[in-house]
Amino acid sequence: MNTKDKGFETKLIHAGAFDDPMGSATVPIYQTSTFAFKNAQHGADLFAGKGEGYIYTRIGNPTIDALEKNIAELENGFGGIATSSGMGAVSAVYFALLGQGKHIVCTASVYGPSRGLLEQDFVRFGVEYTFVHTSDYAAVEAAIKANTSVLYLETPSNPTMEISDITALSELAHKHGIIVVVDNTFSSPYLQKPLDLGADVVLHSVTKFINGHADIVGGVIVTKTAELYKKIRHAMVYMGSNMDPHQAFMVIRGVKTLSLRIERAQENAIKIADYLKNHPKIEWITYPGLTSHPQHELAKKQMSGFGSMLSFGVKGGYKGGVTLMNNVHLAILAVSLGGVETLIQHPASMTHAGVSHDEKQKAGITDELVRFSVGIENVEDIIADLEQALAKI
Ligand SMILES: *Cc1c(COP(=O)(O)O)cnc(C)c1O
Repeated sequence: MNTKDKGFETKLIHAGAFDDPMGSATVPIYQTSTFAFKNAQHGADLFAGKGEGYIYTRIGNPTIDALEKNIAELENGFGGIATSSGMGAVSAVYFALLGQGKHIVCTASVYGPSRGLLEQDFVRFGVEYTFVHTSDYAAVEAAIKANTSVLYLETPSNPTMEISDITALSELAHKHGIIVVVDNTFSSPYLQKPLDLGADVVLHSVTKFINGHADIVGGVIVTKTAELYKKIRHAMVYMGSNMDPHQAFMVIRGVKTLSLRIERAQENAIKIADYLKNHPKIEWITYPGLTSHPQHELAKKQMSGFGSMLSFGVKGGYKGGVTLMNNVHLAILAVSLGGVETLIQHPASMTHAGVSHDEKQKAGITDELVRFSVGIENVEDIIADLEQALAKI
């Protein structure tokens, strides 16, 4: 079905699906590594980029293709590139767009490994980087150098929920010929469409909201132009960070309920934020939906909802955080986010443990910060769980 002129919820269910020769109502899993050519000419054509068909699953596969088309439509992009994991997507983008002597400006509180990959690995190949609070336009402007080729934004960022102005920063970057990449994992295309706001590339850890059921890891990249699509697809295929057909099937299944899941999780998050903001055991809370959030107005403008991720500081610093985590029963003490189940974690000792203490402080990842990914359980149950655990602090 052509879903181009259909609503977002219709696209979630039908975009990218093809007419299966057996009449399967769902996209089947093409569990194969390789594909038979009809004859020598067919094989030659496919290698030359002409004709219909597939060559080899690392290069392309019907199940993976269906998912790529689905997400590309959700993000209003030219094409999608599915990857083995979110980091597979980040790596392919860095690999395609950076090189010897190039410079990247990146959100300081970006996902830990997205930062570590630059600091520990790409640096060995002569890539330069500057991490700044990208919510601060002037700081981004000051960080741009003659050799800057990429502006990499994560908004809202992980775990500080800092929000960067995609439209204004894209205009600034484009004046300098810089490619804008947005990690849209925290919002998903249901709440934010970076390509519509001016970005050139958007990527996701589909492990989180897009799949939404905490049962696979995966990633996807969507580009605005054919040129960027070709460049990044080449990097992904040559690096071998491709998704596999079974993973793609799971994500196609998961993404169908994206709007329903996000609506419910967000409704819960708003109630939990309201409960926490006046709680005597809470020092502070960061949720874009609260007027106290420093970029609340920007969030209202560039997102269609505030999502279900919040972070807060408990009384008693590090010790208080540990007490809370050891006493929740419903919330699962685990990294990751964006699933149907509520998760709680402590970035300073977990996801961002690899970032130096100094850099953590600069990025706003303080010792008492607890990250909470609100699920779709009964909200009274989640609040009751927090209440009894907070009472132990
Ligand atoms: C989880 C995450 C990633 C990495 O994704 P994986 O699927 O774990 O490789 C990248 N960016 C953000 C914002 C994430 O939350």
